[in-house]
Amino acid sequence: MFRLSPLRLRTFRRCRLRYKYQYVDRLPARPTSQDVVGALIHAALHDFFAYVPLHERDEERLTTILDEKWQALVFRLGSPAERQAWRERAEEQLRRFSHQHDLLAQPLALESYCQVPVSDRVALVGRIDRVDEEPDAALHVIDYKTGARPPEVDVEQLRLYAIMVERKLSRPLRRGSYFYLEEGDVWSIHPTREELETTLAQALAAAEEMAAERDYPATIGRHCAACPYLASCAQRDQIAQLPARGGEGW
Ligand code: SF4
Repeated sequence: MFRLSPLRLRTFRRCRLRYKYQYVDRLPARPTSQDVVGALIHAALHDFFAYVPLHERDEERLTTILDEKWQALVFRLGSPAERQAWRERAEEQLRRFSHQHDLLAQPLALESYCQVPVSDRVALVGRIDRVDEEPDAALHVIDYKTGARPPEVDVEQLRLYAIMVERKLSRPLRRGSYFYLEEGDVWSIHPTREELETTLAQALAAAEEMAAERDYPATIGRHCAACPYLASCAQRDQIAQLPARGGEGW
C-alpha cells in the first residue's frame, strides 16, 4: 500500500529532489529551529487539552506546560540569545492562543493518526492535530500552524484531512481550519462533496506520478531556507549564489 500524506504530496510538488531525499533515500533530516519550537508548541497544546481538568485550564497553566517541555529540547536551539528569542516567541503564541480560543474545548481527537485506504493501492495517512465537534455534531478538523502564514494557503491539506477524518469517524465534516498561532488568525474552509472528490482524484494522480518518477529534479526557491536537507543538498552551491534574503537564513 502506497502511504500518501499531505506533507508527502506537498514535498513532491515543491521539490522532487527533496522528495527523493526524504521518501526514497530516507536520509535523516536536520530539523530547523522552527521545527523544534513548533513541535514543542504542538506538544504543549496536546497535553493541555488531553490532561488538564477544565477547572484548572488557564493561560498560566498552558505556559507552564511549555516550560516543562522546553528544557528537554532547548539545547537544540543555538546560542543563549537565540534560545531566549525562540522562548519568547513560543510563549507569545500560546498566550495569544489562550486569549483567542476556548480553553474549555473538549476535542474528540488529539494528534490522532489516520490511515485510510482510498484505492486498491493508496492509503491517505497523517497525524491530525485536533478534531472538534460542532454544536450539531458535525466535525471540525483543526491544524495548528506555528510558522509565519504563507502567501498561499494549502487548501489541499485541509481537504485531505477532511477526507481522512470523515472516513475514520464515519461522520460528516463541516469545517477545516488552520489556527495560525504567530498571527492569531484562523483560516477555514467548508468543503463540498465535489471539492473533496476533486482533491482525492488529484492526490491519486500525483501518487501515480510519484511511483513513475525517476529523475527527481531540484526546484530551488525561498523554500530551500526551511528545507531540512539544505546542508547536504546537491544544489547547495547553486543555492549559495542566490541573493541573501534577510531572516530566511540564506
Ligand atoms: S535545499 Fe532546496 S533544492 Fe535542495 S532538496 Fe531542499 S528544497 Fe530541494
